[in-house]
Amino acid sequence: MLDLTLVAATDAALPTEPARVRHLIDGGWRDSADGATFERTSPAHGVVVTRAAKGGAAETDAAIAAARDAFDDGRWSELSGKARATLLLKVADLIDRDRERIACIETLEAGKPIAQARAEIEGAADIWRYAAALARTLSGESHNSLGPDMLGLVLKEPIGVAAIICPWNFPFLIVSQKLPFALAAGCTAVVKPSEMTPSTTAILGELLMEAGLPAGVVNIVLGHGEPVGAMMTTDPRVDMVTFTGSTAVGKAIVAAAAPTLKKVSLELGGKNPQVLFPDADLDSAIDAIAFGVYFNAGECCNSGSRIIVHEDIAETVTERVVALSRKVAFGDPLDEATQVGAIVSPAHQQKIDGYVKGAVAAGATVRLGGAPLDVPGLGGQFYQPTVVADVTPDMAIAREEVFGPVLSVLRFRTMDEAVELANGAAYGLSAGVWSENVHTCLEFTRRVRAGTVWTNTWMDGFAELPFGGMKESGQGRELGRYGLEEFLEVKTVQMRIGRTRAPWVTGRG
Ligand code: NDP
Repeated sequence: MLDLTLVAATDAALPTEPARVRHLIDGGWRDSADGATFERTSPAHGVVVTRAAKGGAAETDAAIAAARDAFDDGRWSELSGKARATLLLKVADLIDRDRERIACIETLEAGKPIAQARAEIEGAADIWRYAAALARTLSGESHNSLGPDMLGLVLKEPIGVAAIICPWNFPFLIVSQKLPFALAAGCTAVVKPSEMTPSTTAILGELLMEAGLPAGVVNIVLGHGEPVGAMMTTDPRVDMVTFTGSTAVGKAIVAAAAPTLKKVSLELGGKNPQVLFPDADLDSAIDAIAFGVYFNAGECCNSGSRIIVHEDIAETVTERVVALSRKVAFGDPLDEATQVGAIVSPAHQQKIDGYVKGAVAAGATVRLGGAPLDVPGLGGQFYQPTVVADVTPDMAIAREEVFGPVLSVLRFRTMDEAVELANGAAYGLSAGVWSENVHTCLEFTRRVRAGTVWTNTWMDGFAELPFGGMKESGQGRELGRYGLEEFLEVKTVQMRIGRTRAPWVTGRG
C-alpha cells in the first residue's frame, strides 16, 4: 500500500472546443501558409485543449523580416526609456487582468496545479514591472579623467533582433524572464514557445498588441524546433539568441549560431544539490527538500533533485523525507488543493521511469514510489513521489537531469567530500547548504560552482537577482540588471575637445 495523498479528478468543466492559436507576425494574426496545425492534449486529462498553427519556413522568414524592419526603422529602439517603460507597465496590468485566463490554459497545457500557475502569472507581471524600471534607468558610462582635451562615453545600445526560444515547463514565466528585458533594451524579437505549450505566449502577444506595441516589434511563431527554432538560430538577420531548455539543444544552438557569430545566451539544465550538515535545522530543511524536488513535478531546471547528507543524519533525513512526501498532494491540476500535477508527455514519463529503474539495477534502493501513478478519474500521466537512497556519484540518476519528482540521496563525511560531490556533476545551476553555522555556509558557498547558492532556504527568486548557470548549465544571466545587459551592445565614443590633437603628418623639413 503506497499511502500517498491523492487528489482525484474534480468536476471542473474541461473545454469542449480546443483553443485556436495563431502566429503573430508584423502585428497580424496568421494561420500557416500551408494550413498546417498541431494539437496539444492536456497531460492530466487526456483531452485536446489547443489547436495551433504549425509554423514552417514561410512564417519564420516573415517573422524575422518583420522584426528586422521594425528594429532598423527605429519604431521601438528610438522611443525614450519612459515611453518603453510605460508600455511594459501596461502589459503588466493586462497580465494581472487576465491572470485567470492565462493560468487556466497554462494548467491544461502543462499539467501543473492551478494555484501554482496563478502564482507564476503574478510573478511574471512583477518581472514586467521590474523591466519597466530598468528601461528608465538604462545608462552607460562617462570618462571625464582622460585628460583636459578628451571626453570618453560608453553608450549602451540595443543589440538588435533577439530570437527567444522557450521550453514547456514554465511557459509564461520563462518568456517573461527574457522578453521584457529585450523590449526594455530597445530590441525587437521573434519568439518561439514549445510546441507543447503555445497558448500563453500567444495570449501575451494579444496583450502586447492591446497595450499598443508597434507592429513587428514582437513576432511569435508557433511550431517545432525544426524548422522554426533552427531558422531562428541561423538567419543572419537575427543578432542574438536567448534559449532555455536542454543542454543538448543549447549546444546545438551555439554551433548553429557560430557561422553568423550571434551572441547566444543559454539557461540550461541542472543537477542541483542541497547539502545538509549535522547541525542543520531539519524541520526547515526537510520541508525545503520536498518543495525542491516535487515543485512543478520536478520538471524544473532548479529542481533540488539530489541531497548530499552528512552520514550521521542521513538515515533520519531519508525517513523524514519519505514521511513528508506521503503528505504532498498529487493529482488533478484543476483542484485548488493539488500541489503536484501531471508529467508533460508519455515519452517524458518513460524517461523518468528509466532513470529510476537504471538506478535500481546499479544498486540503489527505492525508499518510496518509483513507478507511474494512477490518479482516480484521470486518464493522464503522473509519476509517484520517489525517494531513491544508496545512490553513488557514478550513477546516471546522480549526474543527469531526471526532470521528474525523483530525489536521490547521497552521503558525505567531510566538507571536502561534500564539495567534491556537489561539484561532481557537469551542471552548475544552483546549490544549497543547510547548517546553523555561518562559517560552514560561507565555506560551502565559496567553493561550490553554481550560479545561485541558497543558504538555509531553497528556490526563492526575485526579479532583482540574476539567474543563470556555470559549466554546462549555460552562459549569460537573466533577471536583475544583468538580464538587461544581455540585450545591449556597447559603443565607445571618444570626443576631442578643441583642436588639441598634435598632427600625425608633419611633412619633411
Ligand atoms: P528542448 O531543449 O528540446 O526544447 C526546448 C525548446 O527548444 C523548445 O521550444 C524546442 O522546440 C526548441 N528546440 C528544439 N530543438 C531545437 C533546435 N535544433 N534549434 C532551436 N530550437 C530547438 O527540451 P525538451 O522539451 O525536449 O526536454 C528535454 C529535456 O530538456 C528535459 O527532460 C529536461 O532535462 C531539459 N529541459 C530543461 C529545461 C530548463 O528549464 N532548463 C526546460 C525544458 C527541458 P519544440 O517545440 O520542438 O520542442
